[in-house]
Amino acid sequence: MPYLSPHRSLQTNEICLSIIIPMFNEAEMIESLVARLETILCSLADTAEIVFVDDGSTDTTWDKVCGISLTHGECQCIKLSRNFGKEAAMSAGLEQARGLAVIMLDADLQDPPELIPQMLSVWREGYDMVNMKRRQRLGETWFKRFSAKCFYRLMNWVSDSSVPDNVGDFRLMSRQVVDSINAMPERNRFMKGLFCWPGFKQKTLLFDRDPRFVGKTKWNYAKLFGLAMDGITSFSFKPLRLATWCGVITALSSFAYGGWVISKTLFFGETVAGYPSIMVVQLGLAGIQLLALGLIGEYLGRVFVEVKQRPLYLIEEVSHQVQKNQDPFP
Ligand code: UDP
Ligand code: MG
Repeated sequence: MPYLSPHRSLQTNEICLSIIIPMFNEAEMIESLVARLETILCSLADTAEIVFVDDGSTDTTWDKVCGISLTHGECQCIKLSRNFGKEAAMSAGLEQARGLAVIMLDADLQDPPELIPQMLSVWREGYDMVNMKRRQRLGETWFKRFSAKCFYRLMNWVSDSSVPDNVGDFRLMSRQVVDSINAMPERNRFMKGLFCWPGFKQKTLLFDRDPRFVGKTKWNYAKLFGLAMDGITSFSFKPLRLATWCGVITALSSFAYGGWVISKTLFFGETVAGYPSIMVVQLGLAGIQLLALGLIGEYLGRVFVEVKQRPLYLIEEVSHQVQKNQDPFP
């Protein structure tokens, strides 16, 4: 059973669009973010809500978010009890969102909110998932672009359900997709993979991703490596099969080499060969064994996390703001 938070009872009245925004120390972004979102929400005829998820910020994000009063649309603010990471914050948002269409948006304005009406019109055409593909990655180093490219290649090679490259978390999902994702019980939540798993009718739109508006990225290479490992190990056991094949090939080669050494000694009477060749074989084999062991450890660690069945996140506080003339709990 997926973890259902006690605040689920808010989910009664129907809303057309939910915009989920995970936030970690984004206090300086809030004003410009809300200003841009308000302009968009005003231009929409549909009912909309913004779901802010404060992922354990240590700055004034929570106070600022609670002080927001929208002229159009509602606002749900969810404070997690500590920093659980973006994947958990997005899961919290997805469980709380009430909209028939749900859009995931970063707080740093890298994903332009001006594209929301276009995404909604694609959803109205009957698509369940509107993927937003980055035409180019502005403001990112060549190493980040290169490592992202390698990751998507590797991910799509090892995994059964394909993760489109350069499609981030910015996307629109129908209620059906959101409900399927909420029903997934796993604790290792590589969201880019989970978003793709349900399938349904998909359309991809191209957009230019802006550089971060203010502040610095919350990801470092160690965190990104962890996310990549989560993605690969939770969507495929091909790496384990690869380790088996490496073992089989190495064992066969050593048998062949052993046979050759024995026959050479028997037929030509050669004495002990050199020390370097023994060391090379020895180190090579030890390396492959350690790699395979590490790989098994990666999977075992994830099984360990799954069997503990801990909740994905804990909610400390929820604040719900509606337009001034509406009752928050009808
Ligand atoms: N974020 C979060 N929890 C974290 C790290 C990031 O909720 O532990 C949020 C962050 O506030 C932002 C979004 O995830 O709204 C994307 O983060 P960031 O811009 O740092 O990532 P990047 O765009 O560099 O991938
Ligand atoms: Mg960003």
